[in-house]
Amino acid sequence: QTVTEMVMRQPRPVRNAAFSYVMPEKAPRPHILSVSNAALKELDLDPEAVKSQQYLDVFSGNHILPNTNPWSLCYAGHQFGYFAGQLGDGRAISLFETENNRGKRWELQLKGAGRTPYSRFADGYAVLRSSIREYLGSEHMAALGVPTSRALNLILTDREVYREDAPSDVPQPEQGAIVTRMAPSWLRFGSFEIFHSRKEKENVKKLADYVLKEVIKIDQLSSENKGNRYENLLREVARSTAEMVAGWQSLGFNHGVMNTDNMSLLGLTIDYGPYQFMDYYDHQYICNHSDHGGRYAFSQQPTVCMWNVFQLGKTLLELIGAGEEVDEVDITKIDNEEKLQQYRKAGEEIVNNVAGEELGEYFMKYFTDNMRAKLGLATTDSSDMENVIGPLLHWMGEYKIDYHKFIRSLSDYQITEDGEERDADNAIEKLNIISGLKKENKAKEDLKPWLSIYRHRILLSKLDNEGRKQKMDSVNPRFVLRNWIAQEVCAAFDEKHEDEASAMLESCLQACIDPFKSKYEDEQIEKWVQQDVPQWGRDLKCSCSS
Ligand code: AMP
Ligand code: MG
Ligand code: MG
Repeated sequence: QTVTEMVMRQPRPVRNAAFSYVMPEKAPRPHILSVSNAALKELDLDPEAVKSQQYLDVFSGNHILPNTNPWSLCYAGHQFGYFAGQLGDGRAISLFETENNRGKRWELQLKGAGRTPYSRFADGYAVLRSSIREYLGSEHMAALGVPTSRALNLILTDREVYREDAPSDVPQPEQGAIVTRMAPSWLRFGSFEIFHSRKEKENVKKLADYVLKEVIKIDQLSSENKGNRYENLLREVARSTAEMVAGWQSLGFNHGVMNTDNMSLLGLTIDYGPYQFMDYYDHQYICNHSDHGGRYAFSQQPTVCMWNVFQLGKTLLELIGAGEEVDEVDITKIDNEEKLQQYRKAGEEIVNNVAGEELGEYFMKYFTDNMRAKLGLATTDSSDMENVIGPLLHWMGEYKIDYHKFIRSLSDYQITEDGEERDADNAIEKLNIISGLKKENKAKEDLKPWLSIYRHRILLSKLDNEGRKQKMDSVNPRFVLRNWIAQEVCAAFDEKHEDEASAMLESCLQACIDPFKSKYEDEQIEKWVQQDVPQWGRDLKCSCSS
């Protein structure tokens, strides 16, 4: 074995630290493949700056800006239900933090710039295919209005990277890529779990106090303030996580790897691996090829959030259970086991409630609001979930309807005061139900009772057809980054000249960041929008990180 291999045999425990300082590796012959204008705007970066040598040098990891000290986070996590010990940023290195003109903080981070103390047995690199998926996926999610980390640019290098799941059968290197990602903070549930698992109580408290001061500012909470600050911190995490997962459920998004190390404290969608925007509505859908038990199946996502928030809560039991006494004594110094037991017991009750019932209530509220907007219901009725939303989703699952195409076309349902039957017949002809459906006639017959209920609900909400269409089309994307589309873009880099592939990537990015348009000038985008999922692209699944 080589010296490097010898060192790589031993994972490196990093104790008493939330992060380590790390230098990115020098990248061979990097060049920029794509920059997201949407992200540039968010940073108030001049598009001209992108053309400078400095830009390329900094975001390929080849130049470290003066007075900055890049770092990687140390965290643990529950992977597929089991505690996995120390994980950490194995191939992510944060360069610096900055604030935009609106006072919003962004931490800029390279993914794929080489090994860190947390790389364990892996190489710290990323190949182009997974980088394209992360880059496009996160910018798309932001445009769709779901809280997410962002991606600034995608850089291709001449680094040779070997992967087991490479597209070619003969072992053959792929080109390494680097994505610049950004988030207001990259702290995760696992950032607390690492300290808790090592019984580093002072560090749990220190981190919680840091988060309350810098990340989830206690005086700016949007959730209710019912308990002590640690309880309110957990409540805010439950709220923002519920908001995020409600966005996923109403978009038909399956994340695929909801381990606690992939759960952002800010309720942002992070870690774009095997994710998928479902083509056909299927409650049981599993996008992660390695998820044999379906732990992270589509319908499980809200429940998994509860389980995950509960794991986070377990790290804060004593701090939460102590109530107002947290300010009177230093909890981390108490060695009276009886007292601690009492705190933990009180904490458990609160944590159970916040991660369970409260999160569930937040979720239902966000989810029904999202679905009302998607269906063009301008008013609220307490029976909407039961009478309108639930039955529609049930019908879609029953017939595996193309979720996005159907909902986008629903705004064409013209409703007249006195023409119930005629309206329904027209709608059945117009709505995009069919693509590849086996029991087409039965599906149409089955939809009719729903159309009637929906019609009455629309008439109550007093929006005319035109106004409803406008509202619905602004929340139901016409372009969706389906797996086959991302796959087509990735494959272009293997099969075509780089310029041609880059042009395709650019088209895809533009569609991702502007997904609601009723017509695209770009023919490639129109093709993606209009074409049915090709046979080869059905049920494509990815596995974990490459
Ligand atoms: P994920 O399933 O993507 O959340 O990754 C789980 C853990 O593996 C995280 O700690 C990652 O940083 C680490 N990891 C994944 N891929 C690599 C890689 N190529 N090099 C180093 N660490 C990696
Ligand atoms: Mg991860
Ligand atoms: Mg990952």
